This record gives sequence, structure tokens and C-alpha cells, in this order.
Amino acid sequence: MAKTLTTLTVLRREQLSPHFVRLYLGGDGFGDFTPAGEAGRWDTDMYIKLAFGPDGAPYTGADFDRRQIAQLPPERQPVLRTYTVRSVDTDRREIAVDFVVHGDEGIAGPWAASVEPGTAVRFLGPGSGYRPSPVAPWHLLAADEAGLPAVAAALEALPADAIAKVFLEVAGPDDELPLTAPAGAQITWVHRGGPAREVGDDVSGDNSPLIAAVRGAQWLDGEPHVFIHGEAQAVMHNLRGYVRKERGVGAKNASISGYWRRGRTEEGFRQWKSDLRAAEESAGVSA
Ligand SMILES: Cc1cc2nc3c(=O)[nH]c(=O)nc-3n(C[C@H](O)[C@H](O)[C@H](O)COP(=O)(O)OP(=O)(O)OC[C@H]3O[C@@H](n4cnc5c(N)ncnc54)[C@H](O)[C@@H]3O)c2cc1C
Repeated sequence: MAKTLTTLTVLRREQLSPHFVRLYLGGDGFGDFTPAGEAGRWDTDMYIKLAFGPDGAPYTGADFDRRQIAQLPPERQPVLRTYTVRSVDTDRREIAVDFVVHGDEGIAGPWAASVEPGTAVRFLGPGSGYRPSPVAPWHLLAADEAGLPAVAAALEALPADAIAKVFLEVAGPDDELPLTAPAGAQITWVHRGGPAREVGDDVSGDNSPLIAAVRGAQWLDGEPHVFIHGEAQAVMHNLRGYVRKERGVGAKNASISGYWRRGRTEEGFRQWKSDLRAAEESAGVSA
């Protein structure tokens, strides 16, 4: 992940659906932003780490050197929140970022829901790790709302003759966003019945309807290129094992990870991930 610090300005805010808001970020700092991947063929899961002050407002600390930050007292340290770069427009010199509006709790979601144009935003990155292979026999893409921006970007990058099975879990029909995809992409919207934080355990975590949808999909010939990201319990404890172990997809063809964890802030989620990694390493399990 690039340690470059970029400062952009919120240019406009667009309400995409009841639970999605898009921010366009641009301005003089755009020249400091280098997209990840090859020019014009950028990695579609490119992500940045937005910096907020402990009060939830964009971070205004003058210096962003990581070593210096580590020495600051906790109340002056920035809070980082990870978001996908949905698109980059080099002509307009702006990027778009889609935020899940998940309620009043947290920092980035509530901030994005009400931020005004003109507000400065600072972020680290981008980092990345995936772009759909142009030669894969087929693609399996699955996500909840948090992973939807990356899946939407991946669909736009697929070759015109690509075959894809796509599963997207959202609260309900009103959150089905328009997607641009090749004719061979079969898109299935999976309705949870409400926002992820408002529904019960019967339709979240191990019972997320995305799991049954992916497991129920007909498996095509050849090894697919897989991209699955969303709530960590559903993805890491269910879909990852299904794809890697039951279906035998190799690590190089499987981008599968949690993007957030129900009931945890991003800091709590990072701890959960590192505990899981340690447990798997000591048990000799490979991702
Ligand atoms: C590589 C990567 C890319 C990501 N890309 C995106 C993206 O493009 N758009 C996006 O919206 N998110 C994305 N996420 C997820 C995002 O980083 C988390 O959802 C983050 O926790 C949001 O921060 P917050 O300050 O709003 O809430 P936090 O302070 O982290 O959490 C507050 C509460 O909100 C809950 N919560 C957090 N996220 C959600 C959610 N999506 N739905 C329901 N409840 C939630 C938490 O469980 C917690 O209870 C990405 C994550 C990763 C790792």
C-alpha cells in the first residue's frame, strides 16, 4: 500500500440509493494520486485509507509521517477507514468513492452521508491486489454492499466475451445499483430483508443469504477467477472454505477476504483478522 498522502476536496455528493452515497473527490491534490495497476487498466479493487480525526471530522494534522504519528498521543492520532476507489476519471481529475450508509454508528459512513462539497479529505494509498483475468474460463464474483463498488468496477473491466456468475447481497430491491457488465455476466441480486445492522442472526454472519446463493450456483468448467468480499464471518468462515477447499480453487485465482465485521469497528475488525490469521497459522491452515 502506497504511503503517499493525498489531499482532495469533496466536489459533489450523490445519493445512489437508500443505503449508498457516492462522493466525487478532486481538486489540486489530484496530481498526487497514482492509481494502482497498469495505466488505463487499473486494478479494480483499488482501495484508500481515509483519515479522520478522533472527533470524526477529516484529519487535519499537519504531518502524516507514520513514525511521527505513532508517537502522537491517542487523542491526536488519525482514525483510518478503508474504501474502494469506484472509478478514476483522469480527464475530470476526480475519483468516485461509494459509501454504504449503515446508520449513525461509526465515522466514515455517517460522515459521507452528510458531508458538504468543499470539505478537504486526506487519505493514504492506494493499495490493490486484483483485476479480473482476461483469460479465465469464467469468473465468480460475490459481495455485500461493502464489496459492491469493487465488483461493479470489476464487471466494467471484464472482456466483452467474459462469462461471470455474480451474486450481490443488499438490503432490498431499492439498493440494486445499475451495473455495466458483459452479456455473459449473470447477475443475481440477493435481498437480505434489511440493512446488515438491523437484521437478525438468521440472515447475517453464518446465515447470510449470500452464502446459500453462492453455494447454490452451478459450477462451470475450468477454474474460475474468484473475487468475494464482504462481511467477514460470511466470507472468511463460509465462502472462503467453500471456494478454496470444497471447489479446490488455487490461491492465485482467489481474492477472498472480509471487508468489515458485524458488531466491530474497523479497528476491532483488524484485530479480529489478525487473531484469525494467528489461529490459522498455528493450526497450519493456509488461506
Ligand atoms: C479493502 C476494503 C475496501 C472497502 N471498500 C468499501 C467501499 O467501497 N464502500 C464501503 O462502504 N465500505 C467499504 N469497505 C468497508 C469499510 O471499510 C467498513 O465498513 C468500515 O468499518 C466503515 O467505517 P465506519 O467508520 O463507517 O464504521 P466503523 O466505525 O468501522 O463501525 C461502526 C459500526 O458500524 C458497523 N458497520 C461497518 N461497516 C458496515 C457496513 N458496511 N454495513 C453495516 N454495518 C457496518 C460496524 O460493524 C460497527 O458496529 C472496505 C473495506 C476494505 C477492507
